[in-house]
Amino acid sequence: MSFSDFLLRLVNDLGIFSLVVMCYGATIRRFQPGLVKFAILGLLFGAGTGFAMANGAGLMPGLLIDPRGVMLVLAGYFGGPIAAMAASAIATVARIWIDSRVAATEIAGIWAITVAGVVFARLFLPADGLASLRQFLALGVVASVPFAFALVSPVPYSSGVLLQAFLPLAIATVIGVVVLGHFLCAEQREIALKRKLEKEAFVDPLTNLPNRRKLERKAGSIIDDARRSGSPVSTLVIDIDRFKCMNDRFGHDVGDKVLKDVAAVVLANVRADDAVARYGGEEIVVVMPRTGLTTASVIADRIRAVVDQEVFHGDRDSGKVTVSVGVATHQGAGVSFKSLFKDADEALYRAKQRGRNRVELASPTSVSAVA
Ligand code: GH3
Ligand code: MG
Ligand code: MG
Repeated sequence: MSFSDFLLRLVNDLGIFSLVVMCYGATIRRFQPGLVKFAILGLLFGAGTGFAMANGAGLMPGLLIDPRGVMLVLAGYFGGPIAAMAASAIATVARIWIDSRVAATEIAGIWAITVAGVVFARLFLPADGLASLRQFLALGVVASVPFAFALVSPVPYSSGVLLQAFLPLAIATVIGVVVLGHFLCAEQREIALKRKLEKEAFVDPLTNLPNRRKLERKAGSIIDDARRSGSPVSTLVIDIDRFKCMNDRFGHDVGDKVLKDVAAVVLANVRADDAVARYGGEEIVVVMPRTGLTTASVIADRIRAVVDQEVFHGDRDSGKVTVSVGVATHQGAGVSFKSLFKDADEALYRAKQRGRNRVELASPTSVSAVA
């Protein structure tokens, strides 16, 4: 192979690596762990291996040398076992398609690298995808070992040529695993940091519910949708009864636990489309798209009843916790979260005045004024 040929192949391989890193970042940003994500990652690492092999150098008839080991061994670590197996299957098909005279030992090598990568990642690498330089070096060595398969090939290759090719290929594979692993790691780190910052900005650390900022964003899009479609929107304002007194008598820790338990009840009783948040202090707000007053009041009363029966600050006899709920429903082009919240809050105030542990609905006047 001439020097310019070597450079051209190197540039191509780096291009393939960059594409894999970009697509990997986009996939883990968009998909939660699950079959779809693993299938896409399998396809990605499989395609990467296929392109790397298509860009490989033919050492002799039926024998290609290329950076396939880099992709395959990293598939196990960054994609998991399902993605790695899928990548391996795609790589096998691609290898046969490139040149059907491939030796069986070369196919065995593809699978050996994949399995070795999965096992090594499971046993020795950190689960968060943030392995150290030394760990990537070790993974690179793992990826190189199965090339020795070619050395025991029954096909009449000249073992001298193979031995000559083995060392440079092993070194290139180790470097490739370190470089590509580093960039995939960087991608992983950036996404983890972004998720952490988002969580800090939008999630209440005590209850794990979204916070007021998040609710106002989500309510904004629910309201926009309701204005366009003319469908009703309901809001619940849920407030724990005599919570200050509970804090004073039993301590803040008990209060915190009650708050968490009430948050869990609310979360378990709303629907996936509803926006929920700890709005402030011990007040939880729910905004429900496409929901009329009757449905909203049924859900509000279910939350009230479950808290009444299942949440306690102490023992079951003396430690009852209750909530009061204000409900408002608005509909029409003039609907706004501010006025919905105001009406629901006024209804909550009435629930408190009328004895607590109850649900009050916003007065029809405020609903028809907006409708
Ligand atoms: P009411 O039935 O009228 O709602 O009476 P209340 O005592 O619950 O009155 P209010 O809703 O005004 O009480 C708010 C209390 O919530 C005051 C504060 O001590 C408590 N609180 C707010 N945030 C937290 C928190 O994060 N943890 C704990 N333990 N208490 C909190
Ligand atoms: Mg209260
Ligand atoms: Mg309150």
